[in-house]
Amino acid sequence: MRLVLSTRNAHKLREFAPLLAPHEVVALPDDVQLPPEDGDTFAANALTKARAAAHATGEPAIADDSGIEAAALDGRPGVYSARFAGEGATDEQNLAKLLREAPDGSPVAYVCALAYVDPRTGAEELFEGRCTGTLTHDARGTGGFGYDPAFVPDDDTTGRTMAELAPEEKDAISHRGRAARALRAWLGE
Ligand code: IMP
Repeated sequence: MRLVLSTRNAHKLREFAPLLAPHEVVALPDDVQLPPEDGDTFAANALTKARAAAHATGEPAIADDSGIEAAALDGRPGVYSARFAGEGATDEQNLAKLLREAPDGSPVAYVCALAYVDPRTGAEELFEGRCTGTLTHDARGTGGFGYDPAFVPDDDTTGRTMAELAPEEKDAISHRGRAARALRAWLGE
């Protein structure tokens, strides 16, 4: 099946394509306007983006929304993860703020909501993936992106951060990998 991915982030297209194979993940046409991500939940934001792409293209569309929740901050930054240190903040600035506010060794979780909308049938489905871990103030590693250098996943027993894992190791345990596998199982091969 052909799935339009509702994002302007080329990094996400590269991550989702292998996770959803044999389905074909295609980029959102340039002329489609993406709605603002102003929902209170990952699911609301993912659904809004998928609906926009599905209705504009007439084709089945998917969209994800993801972020990190820190227990010490009552779940913040959550849906504000990409702009935790302010609008237009870099990954480094967002990570530095998290390390200032949440203690070393405190629990964190990555969350990904993945929405599927088929405008031909009206079907709407949501899939969620979670990945729990602990925050380390000894940030390290060059892989991944965002908060990965400070995220030590529970499902890896070596004590490496997400940024020290190979891409396929991260996919196997990540929130995005889990949500994508749930969607793929639902779609069938
Ligand atoms: P989105 O594009 O709205 O889903 O933004 C998600 C934000 O959450 C990113 O900008 C990162 O700050 C953070 N994030 C989501 N997934 C990951 C991940 O796998 N590693 C590191 N940071 C992530």
